[in-house]
Amino acid sequence: TSNRNNKNIQAKLVILGDMGAGKTSLVLRFVKGQFFDYQESTIGAAFFTQVLTLNEATIKFDIWDTAGQERYHSLAPMYYRGAAAAVVVYDITSMDSFQRAKKWVQEVQRQGNANLIMFLVANKVDLEEKRKVGSEEGEQYAKENGLTFLETSAKTAHNVNELFYEIAKRVEKTR
Ligand code: GDP
Ligand code: MG
Repeated sequence: TSNRNNKNIQAKLVILGDMGAGKTSLVLRFVKGQFFDYQESTIGAAFFTQVLTLNEATIKFDIWDTAGQERYHSLAPMYYRGAAAAVVVYDITSMDSFQRAKKWVQEVQRQGNANLIMFLVANKVDLEEKRKVGSEEGEQYAKENGLTFLETSAKTAHNVNELFYEIAKRVEKTR
């Protein structure tokens, strides 16, 4: 098949959520295929790039993995400026992290551009026995706020590639 008509798309992606929710782990799982039980805390923001190939487009993701912003609950404009998509992550074993995820959703909806694609990600589903936030709860909140909902595990890789492919497909439609 010919690639002549392939679009080359660059998309900025910002990852938000409570400290410890698994933001860095999800990104490292996607970008490097690795997982660390003792993931070092990110200081400031980390930046990753990853290319993803769809049928009719090649997407180069610029991924901004945030940290430290958790404390302030407000996002410096540089993080969401020009972002195509935002991923808000919470940890299913922590109700606090779910509550804080909601704050991030509000923050992004207040500050970000109106056509920003937003995903709500319930991470650590491998820890089902410690679950504090029901699937329906996350799903319901996502539905009410126009977000796409996915449950993931950076540890087992469950739905991690799916998440980024889903984002890529959504971004492609807007370009
Ligand atoms: P961040 O602060 O949001 O970037 O969170 P990290 O990626 O640093 O992860 C915080 C802790 O949770 C680390 O000890 C990770 O190993 C662990 N972790 C992250 N994702 C998962 C997951 O899907 N399952 C489990 N069991 N642990 C996870
Ligand atoms: Mg981190």
